[in-house]
Amino acid sequence: AELDTLDIIVLGVILLGTLAYFTKGTLWGVTKDPYANAFANVSGAKAGRSRNIIEKMEESGKNCVIFYGSQTGTAEDYASRLAKEGKSRFGLETMVADLEEYDYDNLDTMPSDKVAMFVLATYGEGEPTDNAVEFYEFITGEDVSFSEGSDPPLENLNFVAFGLGNNTYEHYNSMVRNVDKALQKLGAHRIGEAGEGDDGAGTMEEDFLAWKDPMWAALADKMGLEEREAVYEPTFDIVNRENLTPESPEVYLGEPNKMHLEGAAKGPFNSHNPYIAPIAESRELFSAKDRNCIHMEVDISGSNLSYQTGDHIAIWPTNSGDEVDRFLDIIGLKEKRNYVISVKALEPTAKVPFPTPTTYDAIVRYHLEICAPVSRQFAATLAAFSPDEEVKAEMTRLGSDKQYFHDKIGPHFYNIARFLEAVGKGQKWTNIPFSAFIEGLTKLQPRYYSISSSSLVQPKKISITAVVESRKIPGRNDPFNGVATNYLLALKQKQNGDPNPSPFGKTYALNGPRNKFDGIHVPVHVRHSNFKLPSDPGKPVIMVGPGTGVAPFRGFIQERAKQAQNGATVGKTILFFGCRKRSEDFLYETEFEEYKKALGDSLEIVTAFSRESSKKVYVQHRLKERSKEVGELLSQKACFYVCGDAAHMAREVNTVLAQILAESRGVSEAKGEEIVKNMRAANQYQEDVW
Ligand code: FAD
Repeated sequence: AELDTLDIIVLGVILLGTLAYFTKGTLWGVTKDPYANAFANVSGAKAGRSRNIIEKMEESGKNCVIFYGSQTGTAEDYASRLAKEGKSRFGLETMVADLEEYDYDNLDTMPSDKVAMFVLATYGEGEPTDNAVEFYEFITGEDVSFSEGSDPPLENLNFVAFGLGNNTYEHYNSMVRNVDKALQKLGAHRIGEAGEGDDGAGTMEEDFLAWKDPMWAALADKMGLEEREAVYEPTFDIVNRENLTPESPEVYLGEPNKMHLEGAAKGPFNSHNPYIAPIAESRELFSAKDRNCIHMEVDISGSNLSYQTGDHIAIWPTNSGDEVDRFLDIIGLKEKRNYVISVKALEPTAKVPFPTPTTYDAIVRYHLEICAPVSRQFAATLAAFSPDEEVKAEMTRLGSDKQYFHDKIGPHFYNIARFLEAVGKGQKWTNIPFSAFIEGLTKLQPRYYSISSSSLVQPKKISITAVVESRKIPGRNDPFNGVATNYLLALKQKQNGDPNPSPFGKTYALNGPRNKFDGIHVPVHVRHSNFKLPSDPGKPVIMVGPGTGVAPFRGFIQERAKQAQNGATVGKTILFFGCRKRSEDFLYETEFEEYKKALGDSLEIVTAFSRESSKKVYVQHRLKERSKEVGELLSQKACFYVCGDAAHMAREVNTVLAQILAESRGVSEAKGEEIVKNMRAANQYQEDVW
């Protein structure tokens, strides 16, 4: 009976949450996320959650809040790790908070014996992550005003800051830099350095680890904290539900939320509520035997989803069966995989990241990032649960010695299960509390793809162009395979007639929980972007998109061809495309010929093939060769677009463009760089890079 009441409350909260979504959360102090709401409330908090963080901290006896602004889950993960460590090492009463769930106009009332930590990822062109937009606008706003109106308003606020960024982007770590600046300007006191993690250099994890120790020392000093022997304390309780079986209707077998459990989910479909979309069509784009690139058409006509040319689609992947098996096996849960369990937060501010009751199998298959690289800190946490003393010593060393960890682990592309297999020399790790995995592994993230179709041409069908991640690892028999792209490859194979697809020997539960994905479906949502064609089709466009970077430009060209067919005058449309060989991986070659029929000479595809001659030719070389024309088009206010590899290509294109501008306008290269900067600011230069 207790459960029934709970269910009704949960359902009520979902309805409230949904309503709040439609009203943009302005009517009540509830979040606009039906999913998060349901779980927070199941785990003990009361309905109609407050957006008052000070009140929340007082109520729950917390003296340290760790806010996160996260897009792909890493910042959220780091926030949880700080919370855990603050509690176990220093006895801080910590809580983690999603930035979008609170208001900030009473930050000035945060007492000085408390501390606020900010873990902030920078997204794309120096933008805040989706969940940090409102906070960012508030705190950096011109006329930010607080409840008490004192001056300087945040004098009592002690804060700690860490940023997650990528040095290949122009606005490196601008979120943490700007928030740090804004908080200090308002009188707040930063404790320790503002840390900056660099994904571009591949040192994010180590930057984080290197930053946090001096930060803890400074914080302990400031708050008079005493360090103690850190003992692991689980955040979640795992309760066996012996009266339930996987067939019981209330048991989640991978359904993302209550609506999905109970029937066909209704919109709004978003990052908390995917649409289970039929795949209308899929095919291979490469002719090379050893590599795959998938073209897929996702049908959104049965939903109220919409998109615009240049937007992104998110794919919600499923872990492969062999990796799920490997994981459950090494931690000794293989036999119990279908046991029904409830996961309960042991303290009110912790959120269970998936719906329960559920099974171990469903958690591991649908909700945890079990294939990602292992963090060194997690190795340190797991040392205590080693199968024997020798392994424990090795784990402790791996956890504490950066160089040793990198030498031992770096080259192997281990995921957590392979790591435990290797370090434990095959012994099972049955001592690790399951809670440690829920805390220590990121939740399985949707992957984004630049939509490769035009919404003018096919408003209800979204095209994806995805290259399959598969690479040979020295010293290992099986290749390393990316999570989402191999799942998509399996779906493609099934759609094309293979009843039991197994790309690279991997199998997937393609039918989904309770066969809900049967008939070739994939869970998706759409993310709107600012990567857009000019509203006037007469404006020239220059697009640079090698490899899968061509994805949005296929959409752009499709759209301009249609506009031409509809009688519009379409401006010059140049695509710089690069790949290895014309005969292997020239994406959409024949299709571009078709668009040429509509666009005539205004469409030009400039190609760079890197493996057709002894000299490697890339798109940036071709761009340079076309300096004169590019310079002229830019003076006619052409829009310039770059899509694809952020690490190298996008950067080099930026440099080449600055040179072109310098040359064509007779100014210095430094001035050329400045012009590119201004073009970016004016949206004349747009990037969609990853
Ligand atoms: P993952 O499993 O996520 O692995 C990705 C990489 O992480 C691996 O290649 C490897 O380098 C590293 N890695 C993962 N696990 C380990 C491990 N255990 N050890 C060591 N290293 C590891 N891609 C496209 O193909 N087409 C697009 O149009 C496209 N558009 C995008 C648009 C945006 C805005 C963004 C952010 C990304 C886009 N991507 C696109 C990339 C895409 O989102 C995925 O990142 C990509 O498809 C790989 O996903 P995956 O799940 O297969 O690989």
